[in-house]
Amino acid sequence: MKFPKEINAYCPFCKKHEVHKVKAASKGRASSLAAGNRRHERRLAGHGSKRKGEKTVKKQGKRNKLVLQCNVCKKKQERVVGSRTTKKIEFKS
Ligand SMILES: [Zn+2]
Repeated sequence: MKFPKEINAYCPFCKKHEVHKVKAASKGRASSLAAGNRRHERRLAGHGSKRKGEKTVKKQGKRNKLVLQCNVCKKKQERVVGSRTTKKIEFKS
């Protein structure tokens, strides 16, 4: 999916529409010892059958998240692209 490098979007800090730089949001590395991860592992432990928290259906695409940076105040905000996309997001030059 293609997306423009710069868009005119609402900035909640300037309280009006400004030109924003667009970048793909990156996810940090998941830590395997986080409380939520340990809980999830505990729930999956056991023998067979459908266990709570186990996925049965794999989704076809990912929902891409973008980071918009305001050109005036340089503050950042996140935006989720409307639909699931199977391909990685690209930026038009
Ligand atoms: Zn701004």
